[in-house]
Amino acid sequence: MRTTQVKTTCSYCGVGCGIIASSNDRGQLSVTGDPDHPVNKGMLCSKGRNLNYVVQDQTDRLLYPQMRLHRSHPLQRVTWEKAMLRAAAVFRSIIDKHGPDSVGFYVSGQCLTEEYYLVNKLAKGFIGTNNIDTNSRLCMSSAVIAYAKMLGEDTVPVSYEDLEQTDCLFVAGANPAWCHPIIWRRVEAHKTANPQVKIIVADPRKTDTCAIADLHLQLIPGTDVILYNAIARRLYDTGRIDKGFIRDHTEAEENYFRILKDINLRKAAKQCGVPLNDIKLAAEYIGNAKAFMTMWAMGLNQSKVGVEKNGALINLHLLTGQIGRPGAGPFSLTGQPNAMGGREVGGMASLLAAHRVLANASHRDEIARFWGVDSLPEHPGLTATQMFDALESGKLKAVWVICTNPVVSMPNVNQVVRALKKAKFVVVQDISARAETVEYADLVLPAAGWLEKTGTMTNAERRVSLLQPLASPPGEARPDADILCDFARHMGFTGFSYQNVSEVYDEYVRMTAGTNIDVTGLSHQRLKKEGSFQWPVPTPDHPGTPRLFGDHQFYTNTRRARFFSTSSQRQGLPAPPEGKPYILTTGRLRDQWHTMTRTGKVSRLLRHQSRPLLEIHPVDAFELELADDQLAEITSEYGVVRARIKYSKAIRKGVVFLPMHWGKTLNSPLTRVNNLTDDKIDPYSKQPNFKFTYVSIRPY
Ligand code: SF4
Repeated sequence: MRTTQVKTTCSYCGVGCGIIASSNDRGQLSVTGDPDHPVNKGMLCSKGRNLNYVVQDQTDRLLYPQMRLHRSHPLQRVTWEKAMLRAAAVFRSIIDKHGPDSVGFYVSGQCLTEEYYLVNKLAKGFIGTNNIDTNSRLCMSSAVIAYAKMLGEDTVPVSYEDLEQTDCLFVAGANPAWCHPIIWRRVEAHKTANPQVKIIVADPRKTDTCAIADLHLQLIPGTDVILYNAIARRLYDTGRIDKGFIRDHTEAEENYFRILKDINLRKAAKQCGVPLNDIKLAAEYIGNAKAFMTMWAMGLNQSKVGVEKNGALINLHLLTGQIGRPGAGPFSLTGQPNAMGGREVGGMASLLAAHRVLANASHRDEIARFWGVDSLPEHPGLTATQMFDALESGKLKAVWVICTNPVVSMPNVNQVVRALKKAKFVVVQDISARAETVEYADLVLPAAGWLEKTGTMTNAERRVSLLQPLASPPGEARPDADILCDFARHMGFTGFSYQNVSEVYDEYVRMTAGTNIDVTGLSHQRLKKEGSFQWPVPTPDHPGTPRLFGDHQFYTNTRRARFFSTSSQRQGLPAPPEGKPYILTTGRLRDQWHTMTRTGKVSRLLRHQSRPLLEIHPVDAFELELADDQLAEITSEYGVVRARIKYSKAIRKGVVFLPMHWGKTLNSPLTRVNNLTDDKIDPYSKQPNFKFTYVSIRPY
């Protein structure tokens, strides 16, 4: 039997595992971990191992464009030409009447870099709006801002191989054992081989990640800054700081040290609910480490003080000089497979391509010249939550949603539903009819999925890899890049006539020349021939750059890193609203991905947990007279959810957990966790506050 094989990259999380996908004469697909890939060395987690079933089962696929002229009408099949003519006519008419900022694009960290680049070029360069944002805003925008503020640019300084060289790893607000499993397997192997390596985990839940932890800091949600500052104070008091590094490589920051000196350790321990001796032990582990790393994800980022949390954690590295050496540095994990690629090409309302700065007039001019347009809009565009606010208020008239499912994934999702109903025109470009957002579309465009198109992605350690096709898209589905170029041409824009998607990548690559993110040494051809590379890769023979800042020359104007002066330390937790004393936190399950449009199709992945369950400490459940598996109603200021109770001694008393994945089940919207979640956002990053919502709970 003849078999065709391609090397590609897993389409789920930011770990970026290499996959060998094979197809036989009968069209049967199989996937295995690529043994030569530097990230996973042949390993795959449960989600990656089952990707062939997701691709093979096409029962949910969107196969042809569909349109309706009025929301009360059913969607009807149309030709691509008719769909494009309508999209262009409606966008043109809205823009002519209300200006370019009356339209917006909401895209995804699962888009390929080339697709991200094109939609940014289209919106910022040609339509003339910065209203292009992404679900990465919900994922890691707080880390982007903290890196930029402290290191001078949005730059992850470390690699996975550093995890195997560290002798103290502090995991904060992340459960990599479930959510980034393959890199956690590497950490576990490192700990097994080197039992003296210290692992500290800070999390209100005792997750599987804690299984190899030497110290679990079970803090009260929202008190992260207090905890990190308390550790910093203890490092300071015990002389475990690097005065030479602070003097030579950081900008003077009196305010930060003043804040540290004001800290009363005993009070801080009480505020964050962590025993004082554990704070002291954490400082001892960190301060005694030759190489110290931190690793974090949504527990820090998804907060109304997300940037401060990131800043307070990165401060620990500047205080101890633990950056730019093997096994040392701050490591923000990306949740999605190409959140990093999106950041590279300026895929957010506040960014420009190749790490150029939107607020910088000469950067805007440079990009405008590159694209052959007069100018780029100066003011930042609407971010994810702002976009839906603006749709609801009528300021934004049309939205184009690509590869994301906001009616399940956004916070305070009832408002998102109201906003989409109010919008004049909604385009949904997706692969799956399971995406609940399709229900609100005026125009549905069927897209090609994983293994059906070509393009690049960048994983959490800045590693760029090429994804190659093995199958044709079903029906009339087309690659997202084709769809975007077709729309641009129908809008009358020049500059979107590429022979193939590798030309799009080449165009982006030229834009990076001479920058800190220079990838002029890369092309689709090189990636196909030689495998993946970590940027910067400035020449065709450059091997890539695993670690940055070895010379301690940061990307700030002064070349010095900056401490982050935190202010939320003094604010403490907000008071709960009347009758809503429990703190709800949300997150992923081991075997599910986002809103389950793909993993939800695989029965063996549902075996791990097939329905949303409310994790609650048995003592809290007893007080509420809730039995295990009993149906409960959970209410916040924003909405209601019903879920069955799951007793768990692993969760802190006073805190409850619901998984993020489920939308409507059995046609009821009451299983959707984001009915409940807080719609507040971080003032710097505009990232929502998913990890902290006060709720009440009662038997139903
Ligand atoms: Fe895919 Fe992430 Fe699992 Fe690797 S760890 S196989 S990238 S889901």
